[in-house]
Amino acid sequence: MRAAVIRDFNQDLVMETVTDPACPDTGVVLEVAACGVCRSDFHGWTGEHPKVNPGDILGHEYCGTVVAAGPLATHRIGDRLIAPFILSCGSCPACHTGVSNTCAHQIVPGFGTQGAYAELVAVPFDHNLVPLPDSMTPALAAGLGCRVTTAWHALTDRANLRAGEWVAVHGTGGIGLATLLLAKTLGAQVVVVDVVQDKLDHAKGLGADAAVNALDTDVAAAIHDITRGGAHVSIEALGIEATTNASIDCLRTLGRHVQVGMPAGPSGMMQVNMRGIYSKQLSFFGTRGMPAWKYSTLLDLIERGQVDIRPMVAREVSLSGASAELAAMHGPTAPGTAVITDFTR
Ligand SMILES: [Zn+2]
Ligand SMILES: [Zn+2]
Repeated sequence: MRAAVIRDFNQDLVMETVTDPACPDTGVVLEVAACGVCRSDFHGWTGEHPKVNPGDILGHEYCGTVVAAGPLATHRIGDRLIAPFILSCGSCPACHTGVSNTCAHQIVPGFGTQGAYAELVAVPFDHNLVPLPDSMTPALAAGLGCRVTTAWHALTDRANLRAGEWVAVHGTGGIGLATLLLAKTLGAQVVVVDVVQDKLDHAKGLGADAAVNALDTDVAAAIHDITRGGAHVSIEALGIEATTNASIDCLRTLGRHVQVGMPAGPSGMMQVNMRGIYSKQLSFFGTRGMPAWKYSTLLDLIERGQVDIRPMVAREVSLSGASAELAAMHGPTAPGTAVITDFTR
């Protein structure tokens, strides 16, 4: 099969013909229809991710058609499926109690096994996969894999967001944009924060009630003014110290901070305003991914037209075009995200 392979960190992926993946007993091989290019891929491509090495194939946000099914697979050849990025085992206590995104035996293609920057991808534990609705394009479905699902779980589970509350969203990349769209659907008021004015304008066009440019504004003070007392919920979608502290500081008493951004740097250590957490009696949540059983609610919402996630996908690119998308993440990126939909070149 054709695949885009990491040979050297920070260098263009190399287009190669590699051996087709073997079909797992508990899963399937998908012919990839679309695969998102994500900031987590960027961390792997630059060599910062412990599970990504030269010779690996990235790609954890994908959908496609089953071309081979193992003896214990749930799905059949020909099924069109969306994969969550976390493939949970299905048989451990976490999986049995509804929190499969915390499964200790989970597999994430692209981070430890070969991913979907390729014509084919092997997917073990295929009970995690859900049918791709006819009304949804592969590009849109691939964009769900990581960003939209993570944002949905952060808002509905960790933050337990209620209609009418104010949500602050720090960072308007893929996760931030998804958080904005879903929070509006849930009836919240949203203030977005970024350092790129274009992205703030884009977010306002998509329904943000207010926007704060962190380049020239005291973010926490501005949000306290806009929300008359501070946000009820604040979503950190970058994983850096400055925005984590802005998130803590912009909350009102008893507010809820959700750490969605993967903490940057080799150790992930940060200095955070613990006195703020203590004195305002804040809740501080971590979150990662979404249990696969929550797909049905999210897909229903999208199919019924209650949320339009089309703005999530800004560009469709070819497999060889993924390198340029990764390289662009060294600086501030344009609004929306790229999805690979052409695997022929
Ligand atoms: Zn499990
Ligand atoms: Zn991702």
